[in-house]
Amino acid sequence: MRVLIIEDERDLAAAIARGLRRDGMAVDESHDGEDGLEKALINEYDVVILDRNLPRLHGDEVCRSLRAEGVTARVIMLTAAAEVADRVAGLTLGADDYLPKPFAFDELRARVLALARRGGAARPPVLKRAGVRLDPATREVQRDGRRVELSPKEFGVLEALLASDGAVVSAEALLERVWDEHVDPFSNVVRVTIMTLRKRLGEPAVIETVVGAGYRVS
Ligand code: CA
Repeated sequence: MRVLIIEDERDLAAAIARGLRRDGMAVDESHDGEDGLEKALINEYDVVILDRNLPRLHGDEVCRSLRAEGVTARVIMLTAAAEVADRVAGLTLGADDYLPKPFAFDELRARVLALARRGGAARPPVLKRAGVRLDPATREVQRDGRRVELSPKEFGVLEALLASDGAVVSAEALLERVWDEHVDPFSNVVRVTIMTLRKRLGEPAVIETVVGAGYRVS
């Protein structure tokens, strides 16, 4: 799951990013509206956390432009002004949710997860395949009924493979989904993560390598 935070209060942006990364999400940060809009147009995010009061380009304009460009990412708007009028304005601009500041991180996290579930190709709340069960809400993974502990990246890779419903997922697509924009596309992080993930899931192997194409759980 990939998330963009557009927030000019750097400490707040960094704290949100840290929290979401702990949950295994790939998180990019942007600190002004113009840069944020550009990132949201270039990359495919599941959820954009958008501050309303932003330098260079107001959050309302960012939201309007995203929708005008057909970006399907779910947008959750943050604003200091907890007034009904602001909330209504945000929603009519195409935001999917609205959270007044200050907020508890757990509430933001719950809303991000709820929005991601609503987004895109209706993802089932719990993913199951080949004896593997993954619950995105509780972060729990089981193999044949046995609990498996995964690192955030391993969790993200497994989630992407299960969500593809048996189709091959390329290493590039996994990089895009699970890592953020700072990762070197030529690094072998995907291969290494697949290796450790296979170890943790145990025998018989559930992740298949399709040479020259990617990986799948069939
Ligand atoms: Ca702000």
